Amino acid sequence: MMKRTVLLTFCFLSLALKAVPAGNIGILGSKPKWSVLAHYQGTITRDEFTQLIQNVYCTHGFAPDLIEINDDTARILTNREAQSFFTLRFAGSDAARNPVPRLWHPAKSLPSAKAGKPLSGLRIALDPGHLGGEWAKMEERWFQVGNRQPVQEGDLTLKVARLLAPRLRELGAKVSFVRNANEPITEKRPDDFRELARKVLIKNGVPQPRVDVLDPNNPGKEQTIRWQSEILFYRYSEIRRRAALVNFKLHPDLVLCLHFNAEGWGDPNNPTLTDINHLHLLVNGSYLPQELEFDDERFEMIRRLLSRAYDEELPLADSVATAMARETQLPPYEYPTTNSTTKVGTSGYVYARNLLATRLYRCPVVYCEPYVMNSKDAFARIQAGDYEGTRNVNGLERKSIFREYADGVADGLVEYYSKARK
Ligand SMILES: [Zn+2]
Repeated sequence: MMKRTVLLTFCFLSLALKAVPAGNIGILGSKPKWSVLAHYQGTITRDEFTQLIQNVYCTHGFAPDLIEINDDTARILTNREAQSFFTLRFAGSDAARNPVPRLWHPAKSLPSAKAGKPLSGLRIALDPGHLGGEWAKMEERWFQVGNRQPVQEGDLTLKVARLLAPRLRELGAKVSFVRNANEPITEKRPDDFRELARKVLIKNGVPQPRVDVLDPNNPGKEQTIRWQSEILFYRYSEIRRRAALVNFKLHPDLVLCLHFNAEGWGDPNNPTLTDINHLHLLVNGSYLPQELEFDDERFEMIRRLLSRAYDEELPLADSVATAMARETQLPPYEYPTTNSTTKVGTSGYVYARNLLATRLYRCPVVYCEPYVMNSKDAFARIQAGDYEGTRNVNGLERKSIFREYADGVADGLVEYYSKARK
């Protein structure tokens, strides 16, 4: 999902900085229910809260009136115009903490594992990134080398999920799919967002947005109603629908977001293949000051912080990263800037970043970004497809890239839960 920083930066700016409709809510966001935070009174000490704000969630700073940490309380701005605030009371000590209300189960609260079933009783939702299929070109997760099989990220992630699910079930987990077809979860389609796309563009300084451009390689396409309405469909609407499914129906203890990474490939019909290949994992955090200005994003951050998902997802991500690094032999990805990410944990592979999925799913989320799809090595392995055992690919005996991915994830989960649960 990392390809084309310029594009992603633009869509971030256009959709996040100046949201539509008016009000201080992000794109397709809903009004925050600040009253639910009352359930978290007295569940966290001042030290824990301060440490999470400083080192995980607000590593790029924020306007001083948004969160004010006092001796016994934190004052959180709920609406600047109305000058309204939520006051969080800290626990006086670790021992005095109230239990954290949550629907998911941390490893240490699960009953002891059944023999040979280290994941017994654990509910895992698999979230294969993107849509694939007929949507792959629209979501710009498609490239083709000559007349070889096109590479479509959404199809690759689904293939991994379908290999991973039976392995995790064998280990005792209850596995569900957030997506199990090359189709969107959302009922909406790009045409449903034409009016919103127009408003977003006007608000972002494009007074008379064009409906369409004919040349897909023209960078001006981002300022068209078509491009904006498509991204509102396949990213914003789709991920918010997935979040509703996770939060109100699946209720997992963990979501695994499965992706493949990429480096800029240029023209998708004549893509650049590279020698660069790497691995990293993401957990939620590292909110930007301008993201924290949105009432809904600030609320979602505080709710996530108070749910203590980080305490679970960080060691989980470290464990999965270590197992995946062993399995794939890939070096850690280093972001070219620290503008939107913060390295966390001990493995060297894990970053905090505020992605929609990692923010909205109300449980621990581990977001995997192994392999550069347009690296020469990964490309050859993707073309080789899935197979049992090993085969000689690019001069080396290798597992199929899909099984290697699934094995790395499964091994990391087994290592974490074997240690962390009683
Ligand atoms: Zn992706």
